[in-house]
Amino acid sequence: MKELDRKRILVTGGAGFLGSHLCDYLLAQGHDVLCVDNFYTGTKRNIAHLLGHPRFELLRHDVTFPLYVEVDEIYNLACPASPVHYQNDPVQTTKTSVHGAINMLGLAKRLKARIFQASTSEVYGDPQVHPQTENYWGHVNPIGVRSCYDEGKRCAETLFMDYRRQHNLRVKIARIFNTYGPRMHPNDGRVVSNFIMQALSNQPLTIYGDGSQTRSFCYVDDLIQGFDLLMNSQDSVAGPVNLGNPVEHTMLELADKIITLSKSRSTIVFKPLPSDDPARRRPDIALARTVLGWEPKVKLADGLERTIEYFRQIQSDVGTNQGASARAALI
Ligand code: NAD
Ligand code: UDP
Repeated sequence: MKELDRKRILVTGGAGFLGSHLCDYLLAQGHDVLCVDNFYTGTKRNIAHLLGHPRFELLRHDVTFPLYVEVDEIYNLACPASPVHYQNDPVQTTKTSVHGAINMLGLAKRLKARIFQASTSEVYGDPQVHPQTENYWGHVNPIGVRSCYDEGKRCAETLFMDYRRQHNLRVKIARIFNTYGPRMHPNDGRVVSNFIMQALSNQPLTIYGDGSQTRSFCYVDDLIQGFDLLMNSQDSVAGPVNLGNPVEHTMLELADKIITLSKSRSTIVFKPLPSDDPARRRPDIALARTVLGWEPKVKLADGLERTIEYFRQIQSDVGTNQGASARAALI
């Protein structure tokens, strides 16, 4: 990479699942990466392989407090993403989304830096329009158990668009749909990690409700390509842009697939459906296709195989000389 093209890039939430893959990707492109994380849900294991890298820096910091650094670009990913984690301390979740956005936007304004927001399909709530297009305003309960996350992310989108209108800031908003892959937290309660962990230990897979609810799962490598294309798109493209895989599956189908791929003896048990659990979710990605030329390539079975392999590795590391960091990943 030419010295002129080399950028200093801040990744908040860089020790998390998506953030750590993004750090890998940006370093491989030749950029300098500053990873900021308070390790609320992220782990050192996710970035351990980067700690000696000459273009990688790690800063333990909570984005609800102001941050003074000098960078050229900002990816704002800091926020717990799994329902179990974000409902554990809902007030902190809203603060992270809203105060975090204000602090990172303030930083971007001072630096005149481009800034990317990891928004979510949760802004559509339990959608009444299917598949979800970006111009659908959503169906969100403002006072339910998921509201800290959904409304926090909606308010962050508002702030991003107001900084664009009011301060001419170059913003990029991605609405990310369910994404999976290696480095998902094994105990984060999300469906892919739960099912794989259960399948690998031959425990019953826990289906919430009757399993007819749907989600659309994107493999992490596809998503990170989408981040890059959106961040480097023309300034006129602010988004929001849906990024996700448009192939939709019921939770029953997912459970069957994971049992088969992991050659597990697990059965299935049914548990109560959590409140406000969306019945259907599938992105309409026409905008991403047209404006970014992006679409996911990795098939669910291939992505699941790679993810199953990662979780197998974590399980086998427990008890070996890798045990301490593997156990840390399991906490
Ligand atoms: P994750 O929980 O693995 O990563 C989030 C990271 O943010 C963690 O490393 C955590 O320690 C850090 N963090 C949390 N609060 C912080 C704070 N106050 N200050 C500094 N760091 C903080 O989750 P993920 O799946 O990697 O998600 C990353 C981003 O993408 C989140 O903003 C999430 O809302 C968004 N997103 C993810 C998905 C998905 O399917 N993974 C879907 C939609 C949106
Ligand atoms: N789910 C499930 N069993 C589990 C975990 C989740 O059936 O062990 C369901 C959950 O109720 C939801 C879907 O799987 O309908 C996706 O849940 P996840 O927490 O992964 O993400 P969400 O899309 O709900 O944020």
